Amino acid sequence: MAESFAAARSIILDNVSPLESESVDLFAAVGRVLVEKIPAPWDMPRWDNSEMDGFAARVADCQLFARLKVDGYLPAETPAVDVAVKPGTAVRIMTGAPIPTGCDAIVPIENTDPGKESVVIQKLVQIGDYIRFRGSDISKDEMLLPLGTILRPVDINLLAAFSRTTVQVCRCPEVAILSTGDELVAPGEPTGSGQIIDSNAYSLAAAIREIGATPKILGIAQDNRESLEEKISQGLNADVLITSAGVSAGDRDLVREILEEAGVKQLFWKVAIKPGGPTAFGLKGDKAVFSLPGNPVSSMIGFAMLVRPALLKMMGHSEVIRPLIKATLKAPLHNKTNKTRFLRVKVEQTSAGLLAESAGDQNTGILSTMIRANAIAVLSAEQTELLVGEQVDIQWLDSCI
Ligand code: AMP
Ligand code: MG
Repeated sequence: MAESFAAARSIILDNVSPLESESVDLFAAVGRVLVEKIPAPWDMPRWDNSEMDGFAARVADCQLFARLKVDGYLPAETPAVDVAVKPGTAVRIMTGAPIPTGCDAIVPIENTDPGKESVVIQKLVQIGDYIRFRGSDISKDEMLLPLGTILRPVDINLLAAFSRTTVQVCRCPEVAILSTGDELVAPGEPTGSGQIIDSNAYSLAAAIREIGATPKILGIAQDNRESLEEKISQGLNADVLITSAGVSAGDRDLVREILEEAGVKQLFWKVAIKPGGPTAFGLKGDKAVFSLPGNPVSSMIGFAMLVRPALLKMMGHSEVIRPLIKATLKAPLHNKTNKTRFLRVKVEQTSAGLLAESAGDQNTGILSTMIRANAIAVLSAEQTELLVGEQVDIQWLDSCI
């Protein structure tokens, strides 16, 4: 019996867990999931400092058109505050320089008539003006980022600003990819009649790399025991093994049998989805094994719907399923199967909202429809016919599924 789509995805997600943490160089941490609590080691800013180039002054001295003697200069790199603002004087100060004693406001240079010896105040200031106070951004011991943050460039800036050069993140899985079939030849090799170029290894590797996991190409296994046994045992050294083809009902479809002999416990085989139906999932210890159909469209959609969420979970992500959003149909869509149907659609953002239509021939052998699509419409078994103007659930596709 085929599993429903929802059941198959739950079985997969219930059986994979986030991998352990590892320390990575901050330069390589973008996109990784933070697993470390990082309290701020000090206040930010670390000391009261000037927000503007101008004059550090005492508000009490700064009547309109008051002339103050310029007594001292504080460039940004001033190490410590050994300068004081004496009554009736002002200290020339640069952005970022520590606030000297006695100063209770900065008068920006553009609000003065500045001279070498003296400065005339041309706009009133209030206590605290243009001073960035110690800890006003982040206070010491405050948690810098929530656990589970997917590190963005701005988060990396924050960590670097607190002098971090490494960070603890969730490890990304190594994902072995095995293409199977006597008819396959690698891209770039000479092809004879009846031979098919192994494009799946490339699309799967690209989709794995796109989310930040590491693909490991095992090459092509022939449809015979020896070849499959050797490649499958190599593949089981990785965190995840994905096989493509060889799990349908054909005579030479030995993949499931050999996986079982290699100690992989099959949790399901066949899902009530189209495309992607002949998909199997199994476990050997904590290693996950996915067997996807050979048809390129089916293998890509099977990856997007069933494998990608599992890899994201292993990488520490909490949002692992692409959200379903509503679009309005510009042309009818049909589901003539009694399965969950994934249709390749083109979705346009318009002033009337999202408008969807089929991206072309939905036969799973047609790759160009996949190329034109920017989303997948998900129709339940009950949604046999959706008419123009009706709403359909769609899921965006990334650049390469
Ligand atoms: P199968 O799942 O073995 O019945 O294969 C279904 C279809 O997918 C056949 O036309 C295969 O030639 C094709 N196919 C299988 N493996 C690959 C692959 N790695 N790359 C591209 N096409 C493939
Ligand atoms: Mg085959």
